[in-house]
Amino acid sequence: MLQHIQETHPDIDYIMWTGDLPPHDIWNQTREENLKIIKETVKQMSDMFPGAPIFPALGNHESAPVNSFPPPYIDNPENAISWLYDELDVQWRKWLPSSVSTTVRRGAFYSVLVRPGFRLIALNTNYCNNKNWWLLLNSTDPATELQWFIYELQSAEFNNEKVHVIGHIPPGHSDCLKVWSRNYYAIVSRYEATITAQFFGHTHFDEFEVFYDHKDLSRPNNVAYVGPSVSPYYDLNPGYRIYYVDGDHDKSTRAVIDHESWTMNLREANLYGYPIWFKLYTARQAFGMDALRPIDWDQLIERMTNEPKLFELFYKFYYKASPVRPVCDMTCKKKILCDLHSGRSHDRKNLCQSIESRIDSSTNTSWKEWFYNTISVS
Ligand SMILES: [Zn+2]
Repeated sequence: MLQHIQETHPDIDYIMWTGDLPPHDIWNQTREENLKIIKETVKQMSDMFPGAPIFPALGNHESAPVNSFPPPYIDNPENAISWLYDELDVQWRKWLPSSVSTTVRRGAFYSVLVRPGFRLIALNTNYCNNKNWWLLLNSTDPATELQWFIYELQSAEFNNEKVHVIGHIPPGHSDCLKVWSRNYYAIVSRYEATITAQFFGHTHFDEFEVFYDHKDLSRPNNVAYVGPSVSPYYDLNPGYRIYYVDGDHDKSTRAVIDHESWTMNLREANLYGYPIWFKLYTARQAFGMDALRPIDWDQLIERMTNEPKLFELFYKFYYKASPVRPVCDMTCKKKILCDLHSGRSHDRKNLCQSIESRIDSSTNTSWKEWFYNTISVS
């Protein structure tokens, strides 16, 4: 895949690498083995893309045991997370300035100026992971990450910078703790003019989360892209994503203009002995969108709620066109559309009710149609 990317997209400006590098054989993992994987993959990436800055974010699988990320106050040598963060600081230094060292060693998050007026903030979402049981001891803003995030955004606002946020676990995912997610949502709302896009991974599916004004949930104000995984785990084809971003000029919005998703057919690759990568779709063209503003994604959800064909297309891409994807029944459809509407976790009641009731009512309509069309033989 890396070779294919190198040959097909020689004009890449930078790479966002959203974590989960070790395989998911979590019963087999050790600290030593995970560090080895991190070092090897970092080397692989820097060898393949020598000219491109790479911005990494930390996944939940990088620690051993999996999901185990003690906050900084756990500082006894046996349990402290410094075995991982100190090495990340060394490895990530290939692409990041030494100024990020303090926050990387404290919490594996950082903020860098990519271009004048354009900043990238990488969060460590393991401090919102509900399977990180260290947080049961104390979940109050672990590693003071969100407080630091606000300071970074405020100074970005003062300096007229636009910000892209990257991380691993999407903030609206049910794996993300409710309180962290709620605070994050409010912060994104406050800095909606500064944060022009967010990028996450973790779910392995190709999806997104629309954010709304936290005081007026009818007004979309941000979008988080959840990129397709390289891993086929499970029932998926492998994939990667290319984003087109408003580029270097005085009035640049740093908005995502369009994106395209690439995949390969795993079944064919196994038959031939080599993969054939192809562009699966381009967002604006495939979904008939004017632009990729939050309102356009909001309208796409709306349209998918009403147009079964459009939802089917989205669902095909969601699985990277895997031929073994399961059939998506009404419960599945409701869940997926509701996920797209949820930038805030564990709040389906406020964020999803309207979508669910619309799907329910449309189901009833088609059932009635079916009834009248099929049964009425008179
Ligand atoms: Zn993950």
